[in-house]
Amino acid sequence: MELDRYLALELASTIRHDGHGGVADDLADVAGLTSWVRDRLDLLDGWGGARDFAADEACWAEVVAVRAAVRALFARAVRPGPPSPADARRLLPVDEALARVNAAASGQPVVPRLDWPSSAAPSVRLLPALQGEAAVELSARLARAAINFLAGPERERLRACTAPRCVRYFLKDHGRQEWCKPSCGNRARAARHYQRHRQ
Ligand SMILES: [Zn+2]
Repeated sequence: MELDRYLALELASTIRHDGHGGVADDLADVAGLTSWVRDRLDLLDGWGGARDFAADEACWAEVVAVRAAVRALFARAVRPGPPSPADARRLLPVDEALARVNAAASGQPVVPRLDWPSSAAPSVRLLPALQGEAAVELSARLARAAINFLAGPERERLRACTAPRCVRYFLKDHGRQEWCKPSCGNRARAARHYQRHRQ
């Protein structure tokens, strides 16, 4: 379950800065979803379908719908800070986002499984109770990750990067951190400096 925060952030981060001032979408099409999933076998631990996963149109539509809901809830979580500018003007209403995430999560029942290796503390994993369709399993897994992350204490560290052109949500590591990475901080400081000197 500690992977959930990464999985939720990675899902949200499929909408990203393209490096040229625009916004790119790693899940722009069915093939994009297939490779995104196959590159995240570690995070999708416990989901047997991940290894030979091939997305179809229905699965892609479902995952993109869950992502829109997750990004709307992320926008709520970072208040009173600003949301990511990538979709700030077309966010789902919160009620709709909650309903969508909960509906996706309920698509697959899970059972707890206790692991307790001799060298480590016991931990619990939630495994699918029944094998279902890939689209349902995947969107349920992603929705469950978002639920665990948003309902947990780490939600309070979530921020939207305020550097020019950046659209990332990230987890703040220390008190006054405003930017997702040092290069964003440099860009933001340069922009402020430029603004000050223009005025
Ligand atoms: Zn950034």
